[in-house]
Amino acid sequence: MIQRNTKQKEAILSVMQGAGIHRTADEVLSAVHELIPGIGQATVYRNLNRLCSEGKIRKITGEGWNIYDGNPMPHDHLHCAYCGKLYDISSWEDSAMDSHAEEEVQGKVLRHSVLYEGICADCLKRQNEGV
Ligand SMILES: [Zn+2]
Ligand SMILES: [Zn+2]
Repeated sequence: MIQRNTKQKEAILSVMQGAGIHRTADEVLSAVHELIPGIGQATVYRNLNRLCSEGKIRKITGEGWNIYDGNPMPHDHLHCAYCGKLYDISSWEDSAMDSHAEEEVQGKVLRHSVLYEGICADCLKRQNEGV
Protein backbone atom coordinates (compact mmCIF):
# COMPACT_ATOMS: atom_id res chain seq x y z
CA MET A 1 0.00 0.00 0.00
CA ILE A 2 2.76 2.39 0.99
CA GLN A 3 4.67 1.43 -2.13
CA ARG A 4 1.67 2.09 -4.34
CA ASN A 5 1.16 5.50 -2.77
CA THR A 6 4.79 6.41 -3.29
CA LYS A 7 4.60 5.36 -6.92
CA GLN A 8 1.55 7.54 -7.47
CA LYS A 9 3.13 10.52 -5.77
CA GLU A 10 6.33 10.08 -7.76
CA ALA A 11 4.39 9.90 -11.02
CA ILE A 12 2.60 13.13 -10.16
CA LEU A 13 5.84 14.82 -9.20
CA SER A 14 7.47 13.63 -12.42
CA VAL A 15 4.88 15.33 -14.64
CA MET A 16 5.34 18.54 -12.63
CA GLN A 17 9.11 18.68 -12.78
CA GLY A 18 10.95 20.88 -15.22
CA ALA A 19 11.46 24.57 -15.64
CA GLY A 20 8.39 26.65 -16.28
CA ILE A 21 5.88 23.85 -15.77
CA HIS A 22 2.50 25.15 -14.75
CA ARG A 23 -0.47 22.83 -14.93
CA THR A 24 -4.05 22.82 -13.73
CA ALA A 25 -5.18 19.83 -11.67
CA ASP A 26 -6.98 18.46 -14.75
CA GLU A 27 -3.85 18.75 -16.87
CA VAL A 28 -1.89 16.91 -14.19
CA LEU A 29 -4.60 14.25 -14.12
CA SER A 30 -4.44 13.56 -17.84
CA ALA A 31 -0.63 13.55 -17.87
CA VAL A 32 -0.51 11.10 -14.94
CA HIS A 33 -3.10 8.91 -16.68
CA GLU A 34 -0.51 8.16 -19.33
CA LEU A 35 1.82 6.79 -16.64
CA ILE A 36 -0.75 5.11 -14.38
CA PRO A 37 -3.91 4.49 -16.43
CA GLY A 38 -6.21 3.59 -13.53
CA ILE A 39 -5.36 6.47 -11.21
CA GLY A 40 -8.37 8.29 -9.79
CA GLN A 41 -9.03 12.00 -9.72
CA ALA A 42 -9.25 12.12 -5.91
CA THR A 43 -5.85 10.42 -5.61
CA VAL A 44 -4.24 12.92 -7.94
CA TYR A 45 -5.79 15.91 -6.17
CA ARG A 46 -4.85 14.56 -2.75
CA ASN A 47 -1.25 14.01 -3.80
CA LEU A 48 -1.04 17.47 -5.36
CA ASN A 49 -2.04 18.97 -2.02
CA ARG A 50 0.45 16.76 -0.23
CA LEU A 51 3.28 17.80 -2.56
CA CYS A 52 2.35 21.44 -1.92
CA SER A 53 2.51 21.06 1.83
CA GLU A 54 5.84 19.27 1.50
CA GLY A 55 7.09 22.28 -0.45
CA LYS A 56 7.93 20.27 -3.58
CA ILE A 57 5.50 22.15 -5.78
CA ARG A 58 3.49 25.35 -5.38
CA LYS A 59 -0.12 26.21 -5.95
CA ILE A 60 -0.80 29.60 -7.49
CA THR A 61 -4.33 30.79 -6.90
CA GLY A 62 -6.26 33.58 -8.54
CA GLU A 63 -9.86 34.50 -9.00
CA GLY A 64 -11.58 31.31 -10.08
CA TRP A 65 -8.41 29.41 -10.99
CA ASN A 66 -5.67 27.29 -9.42
CA ILE A 67 -2.48 26.34 -11.20
CA TYR A 68 0.24 24.07 -9.85
CA ASP A 69 3.84 25.12 -10.35
CA GLY A 70 6.65 22.56 -10.55
CA ASN A 71 9.16 25.12 -9.33
CA PRO A 72 8.83 25.73 -5.58
CA MET A 73 11.55 28.41 -5.50
CA PRO A 74 10.29 31.97 -4.97
CA HIS A 75 9.34 33.67 -8.20
CA ASP A 76 6.52 35.82 -9.49
CA HIS A 77 3.94 35.22 -12.20
CA LEU A 78 1.98 36.91 -14.90
CA HIS A 79 -1.45 35.41 -15.45
CA CYS A 80 -2.82 35.99 -18.93
CA ALA A 81 -6.41 37.20 -18.81
CA TYR A 82 -7.00 35.79 -22.31
CA CYS A 83 -5.48 32.30 -22.45
CA GLY A 84 -5.20 31.73 -18.69
CA LYS A 85 -1.57 30.63 -18.87
CA LEU A 86 0.94 31.47 -16.16
CA TYR A 87 4.30 32.92 -17.08
CA ASP A 88 7.30 32.98 -14.75
CA ILE A 89 8.76 36.30 -13.79
CA SER A 90 11.92 36.52 -11.72
CA SER A 91 11.26 38.17 -8.37
CA TRP A 92 12.40 41.67 -7.98
CA GLU A 93 14.36 41.64 -4.75
CA ASP A 94 12.80 44.68 -3.25
CA SER A 95 13.17 44.86 0.51
CA ALA A 96 11.41 48.24 0.49
CA MET A 97 8.24 46.36 -0.37
CA ASP A 98 8.56 44.16 2.70
CA SER A 99 9.36 47.02 5.05
CA HIS A 100 6.40 48.96 3.68
CA ALA A 101 4.12 46.01 4.43
CA GLU A 102 5.66 45.45 7.85
CA GLU A 103 5.12 49.10 8.74
CA GLU A 104 1.47 48.99 7.75
CA VAL A 105 0.58 45.87 9.71
CA GLN A 106 3.25 46.33 12.40
CA GLY A 107 4.15 42.71 11.79
CA LYS A 108 6.77 40.69 10.01
CA VAL A 109 6.89 39.57 6.38
CA LEU A 110 8.04 35.99 5.91
CA ARG A 111 7.62 35.87 2.14
CA HIS A 112 5.67 37.61 -0.55
CA SER A 113 4.73 36.74 -4.07
CA VAL A 114 3.49 38.99 -6.80
CA LEU A 115 0.83 38.03 -9.28
CA TYR A 116 0.56 40.23 -12.34
CA GLU A 117 -2.67 40.12 -14.31
CA GLY A 118 -2.11 40.91 -17.95
CA ILE A 119 -1.96 39.73 -21.52
CA CYS A 120 0.80 37.44 -22.72
CA ALA A 121 2.90 38.09 -25.83
CA ASP A 122 1.04 35.47 -27.88
CA CYS A 123 -2.37 36.90 -27.07
CA LEU A 124 -1.17 40.46 -27.65
CA LYS A 125 0.10 39.43 -31.07
CA ARG A 126 -3.17 37.69 -31.87
CA GLN A 127 -5.03 40.83 -30.83
CA ASN A 128 -2.87 43.08 -32.97
CA GLU A 129 -3.35 40.84 -35.96
CA GLY A 130 -7.07 40.97 -35.34
CA VAL A 131 -7.46 37.19 -35.42
ZN1 LIG B 1 -2.27 34.63 -23.33
ZN1 LIG C 1 6.16 29.53 -11.92
